Amino acid sequence: MNNNIQLLSAALIALPLVLALGFMLGQWFKAYRERTQTTTLMLLSEVFDHTHDGVTITDTTGTIIAVNRTFTQVTGYSEDEVVGNNPRLLSSGYHDADFYKSYWDALMNEGIWQGEIWNRRKDGEVYLEWLTCKTVKNNNNEITHFVAVFSDITEHRRQEKRLEQATENDRLTGLPNTASILRELSKKTPNVQHPWCVLLLDIDKFRLVNSSYGFAVGDQLLNNIAKRLQGCCTQGLIARHSADVFIVATPLINATEEEQLATISRLRDCISKPFSVLGRLMEFNFSVGATLWNTTDVAVNTALQEAELALHASKSRGAGQTRFYSDDLRTDQNPLAYLQGLREALGNNELALFYQPLVLATTGKIHALEVLLRWTHPVMGNVPPDHFIPLAERNGLMEPLGHWVLQQALKQYASWQKSGIAPPHIAVNVSPIEFQSEHFVGNVVAALKKYQVKPHCLELELTEGVFVQQDPSTLEKLATLSKHGINLAIDDFGTGYSSLAYLKHLPVNQLKLDRAFIQGLPENEADRAIVESTLALCKGLKMSVVAEGVENIEQANYLRSQGCDYIQGFFYGRPINQELTSKLLTDQKNDAIST
Ligand code: C2E
Ligand code: CA
Ligand code: CA
Repeated sequence: MNNNIQLLSAALIALPLVLALGFMLGQWFKAYRERTQTTTLMLLSEVFDHTHDGVTITDTTGTIIAVNRTFTQVTGYSEDEVVGNNPRLLSSGYHDADFYKSYWDALMNEGIWQGEIWNRRKDGEVYLEWLTCKTVKNNNNEITHFVAVFSDITEHRRQEKRLEQATENDRLTGLPNTASILRELSKKTPNVQHPWCVLLLDIDKFRLVNSSYGFAVGDQLLNNIAKRLQGCCTQGLIARHSADVFIVATPLINATEEEQLATISRLRDCISKPFSVLGRLMEFNFSVGATLWNTTDVAVNTALQEAELALHASKSRGAGQTRFYSDDLRTDQNPLAYLQGLREALGNNELALFYQPLVLATTGKIHALEVLLRWTHPVMGNVPPDHFIPLAERNGLMEPLGHWVLQQALKQYASWQKSGIAPPHIAVNVSPIEFQSEHFVGNVVAALKKYQVKPHCLELELTEGVFVQQDPSTLEKLATLSKHGINLAIDDFGTGYSSLAYLKHLPVNQLKLDRAFIQGLPENEADRAIVESTLALCKGLKMSVVAEGVENIEQANYLRSQGCDYIQGFFYGRPINQELTSKLLTDQKNDAIST
C-alpha cells in the first residue's frame, strides 16, 4: 500500500516535469519545422527566380498568379503586366482548336502536357517553346493550380535547320531535302521529247494526325509515306519539301498527257492504300499540283514554283484533287494575291450572305435560317467558304470577317422582323478562332442590342472542337452566352469526337447531325444506328436535333418517323441570296394566312 502511495506521489511530482518537457520538445520541433520550412521556401523561391526555365503559375480559372524572372526575359512582359491575365496573352495564333483540345485532354486526364508550342513575345516576335505543364492537386485530389515550365528553343531549332540544310537530307525520312533535289534536277537537260513531270504531293488533313495522336505518330506516318513513295517511284527523284509535302520528279518517255496522268495515278494508287499506325489502319487523301518541265530555258526552281501554284489551286477545289499548272494560275491563284484578295473583299463589296432554311420536320415550316457566307472574286468567281474560311483563320482575318457576318445577319433579321416575315431564329456559324477571342461574347451581346434582336432569336453554330476544349474560359463564355438566352448548337456533329458524354454539363440546346450520316439513309444500317442512338441520347439531354444535308424525300420521311426535330438540306431548299429569301419568307407568310 505504502509502496503504491510512494509511487503515486512520485508520479504526481514527475507529471508536470514530463508535461513541461513534452511541451518544450513540441515547441522545439515546431520551431525546427518552421525553420526548415522557411529555409525550403527560401530555397524554392531562389530556384524559381534563377532557373533558366520560364515558369508560369495559374489558378484553376486560368488566371496567372506568378511568373519568374526568366518568363520576363523570354516574353518581354513584366510580372505586373501578366499577373491577373490569361496566358492567352502570349498566343501566336498558330495552333488550332484541335491542338488545344489535346493539350487540355492530356492535362485533365494525365495531369501533364509536354510538347512544342509557338507563342508571341510582347514585341510581336513569334518564338518556339518546349513546354511542360502540370496540374497541382490538394489532399482531396482537387486541382488547385497549373504550373507551366518552358524554355525558348527557337535558336536551337534554327541551328537544327541549318544543320539539316548542310547535310542535304531530311533527318526524319532520310529523303533529300528541297535544295538537294533542285541541285540534282538542275543537272538534267529536259526537252520537249523528254520532259520531266515535277509534282508536289500534299497529305490532306495531316495536321489532324499530329493533333489527335501526337507528333511521334505523325513522324512515323511521314516515314511510312516516304518509304512507299521510294518503293513506287524507282525512275524519278523524291524529296521532302516541307512538313507534309513531298516533291516527286519523274522523266517522261512519250511526253504525252496520258503518260503524265498515268504517272500520277500510279503514285496515288500506291499511297492511297491504308497505312498501319499504332495498330490501326489509316487512309489519306492527297492533293497534287503538277507541271511539265520541258526546257532548260526554264530554271528548275521556276518549275517547282509552278507546281506549288498548281497545288494551291488544286487544294482550293477541295481534298484529293490533281491540278496541272497553266499560266493563268500565276495571276489568279497566286497564294499571296489570293490572301490579299480576301483582305480586300470586305472593302470591295465582294462578300454576301446567303440563307438556307432549317424546317420543322413535322410541318415543313421554316424554323430558322442559317447564314452562309459567299465570296465572289472578280477573276476567280465564286470561292467556296470551305476554302477561304480556313485561309482567313490562318491569317488573322477570321475575327473581322465573323464580326461582319454577325452584324449583317442581325441587321437583315431585324429588317425581316420589322416586315413581319422573320422566322423564329437566325443561325450564325462561329469559327473556333472567333470564339477564342476575348471580345467574342461582348461583341455578340452588343450586336444584339444594336439591332434590337432578342437573344433567344439567335443561334450560334459552333463546331465540336470548341465544346471539347473544356478549359475554364471556354466554359465561362458558353455559360455567359447561354445566360443571355442565346441558343448554342453543335455543328457537324459526328465528324470530330463523336461523344455525347462531354455535352452533358454544357449549355447546348441543339445538335446538328453531319451530312455524312444522312447520305446513306434510310438504307445504310450503320447510319441508321448512329442517327437513332443520337436522337435517343439527345432526347435524354433535352437537346433538339437537326439533320443536315437532307437531299431526298426518303431521307426526310425516315428522319421524321424517328422523331428528328428539324431538317436542313437541298430537299427543302438550297442556300439563296437575301432577295430570294425575302420572297420565300413572304410566300410562306401568305400561305399561312390563306390556309
Ligand atoms: P456548314 O456550317 O456545315 O454549312 C452547311 C453546308 O452544307 C453549306 O455549305 C451548305 O450549302 C451545304 N449544304 C446544305 N444542304 C446540303 C445538301 O442537302 N447537300 C449538300 N451536298 N450540301 C448541303 P457552304 O455554304 O459551302 O459552307 C461550307 C462551310 O463553310 C459551312 O459548313 C461552314 O462551316 C463554313 N461557313 C460558311 N459560312 C460561314 C460563316 O459565315 N462563318 C463561319 N465561321 N463559317 C462559315
Ligand atoms: Ca453550320
Ligand atoms: Ca454543318
